[in-house]
Amino acid sequence: MGGPPAFNSPADIGHFIGGQRVAGLSGRSQPVWNPATGAVARQVALASVDEVDVAVAAAKAAFPAWAEAPPLKRARILNQFLQLLGAHRNELAAMITAEHGKVLSDAQGEVTRGIEIVEFACGAPQLLKTDFTDQVGTGIDNWVLRQPLGVVAGITPFNFPVMVPMWMFPVALACGNCFILKPSERDPSPSLLIAELLRQAGLPEGVFSVVQGDKLAVDALLAHPDVKAVSFVGSTPIAQHIYETGARHGKRVQALGGAKNHMVVMPDADLDQAVDALIGAAYGSAGERCMAISVAVLVGDVADRIMPRLAERARALKIGDGMRPESEMGPIVTAEARARIEGYIAIGVEEGAALVVDGRGLSVAGHEQGFFTGGTLFDHVTPQMRIYKEEIFGPVLGCVRVKDFAEAVALVNAHEFANGVACFTRDGNIAREFSRRIEVGMVGINVPIPVPMAWHGFGGWKRSLFGDLHAYGEEGVRFYTRQKSVMQRWPESTPKGAEFVMPTSK
Ligand code: NAD
Repeated sequence: MGGPPAFNSPADIGHFIGGQRVAGLSGRSQPVWNPATGAVARQVALASVDEVDVAVAAAKAAFPAWAEAPPLKRARILNQFLQLLGAHRNELAAMITAEHGKVLSDAQGEVTRGIEIVEFACGAPQLLKTDFTDQVGTGIDNWVLRQPLGVVAGITPFNFPVMVPMWMFPVALACGNCFILKPSERDPSPSLLIAELLRQAGLPEGVFSVVQGDKLAVDALLAHPDVKAVSFVGSTPIAQHIYETGARHGKRVQALGGAKNHMVVMPDADLDQAVDALIGAAYGSAGERCMAISVAVLVGDVADRIMPRLAERARALKIGDGMRPESEMGPIVTAEARARIEGYIAIGVEEGAALVVDGRGLSVAGHEQGFFTGGTLFDHVTPQMRIYKEEIFGPVLGCVRVKDFAEAVALVNAHEFANGVACFTRDGNIAREFSRRIEVGMVGINVPIPVPMAWHGFGGWKRSLFGDLHAYGEEGVRFYTRQKSVMQRWPESTPKGAEFVMPTSK
């Protein structure tokens, strides 16, 4: 299972500050595993408060010139970056698989979804166009500017080490901000290649930095007076901590949290489609997706018809090294995460759920030390159980049986998480009612993982998102800019003299 935790050993993954790679100087580091082999692959530096300060100072120094650059100039640099990403997409995907474990084709998909946000951000001149009212009053015009905030930070989770940072920094940079990325310490390598490609694209030094680290670095960013906004994606308890701490320090914060995504299967659904959707959405990326389906809500007689088919498919999953093309599911990110997931399976059994397929204790030939677990399937899960209420974040699908559509909607709406949801049906009215009544941020109708495209914006409701604005899309542009309203009159236009009443448009 690899070596012991290796604090104080030299880190080979350092930071990227002021336009170059810099070694970690804190003396603190942490192992990064190859989850398919269970071996320690490298060490990542963990920044000190001083190192965070250096990155923020470099970003602050770079800000005035970057903010002043015409949006078209910023877009051209992003366009260069886009070309470089195209040339390096497979390298990025292989880095993801090596440290996260997900299968290579899935990692390639992740890179593509990230690239789409860069494509969106290349529209900076159009995105930053604002409203203008001619003659808002006699001789007066009024318009709006959207100006950058300054230094902004992004704190990202392990499960999408390329895509989630790209939900943030392309939009932030397009809007004229300087960005500091604090990636997950579990798969930190892609962040440095991204920084290098931005440098090659012509991004001025200091505009984008990477600070590797843990809670210490995150809390330093949250408290730093020169960091104006924080975007976070990760688990709900940390999202809440980020939101509350950032707000206390006067920052703008968007903090996307955990999930428990339901997929409702109506009796009229196309069962072939529903089975494919559930298997892919529950077990793809080993369930380590914030939009993974972890609860199937089986309406009426669907359960008896679908359970045997789900069980057969869960048992037949091809699980192995993510670099092997035949693998459908790779390992879990760390041994600790696997222990948590398998612990939840034991809890489910104790709670009385019916364990139909048990993925625990899976051994993959040639990778006996890898962090593998199989696909697990529970039937007769009830809303009182911890395996229903809590996010497991692994390849565990729980099935809840309900009598009708109304009970399905009430069940979903009572959950504290509200990231994504899906409904499989052939009935247009059910589909319409579902999408209108369901209290969840992202809805799929016969689409199991409805991750919005780059120009629509991503975000859940309730305890899946702390803050007002979703990530990327127009909401992202709003998050990374502040509105200024300008009202203008020239001395030559009708003089009014001193005014002592609230101005109106007369
Ligand atoms: P995590 O919350 O453990 O870590 C996320 C980030 O926070 C990392 O950069 C980590 O270094 C930092 N962090 C961890 N503990 C901290 C602490 N005590 N104080 C300050 N910072 C801390 O999440 P993870 O395990 O990396 O990712 C999985 C979680 O992310 C799941 O809950 C998943 O649902 C969620 N997620 C949500 C979305 C979404 O869009 N809503 C997307 C992806 C992942």
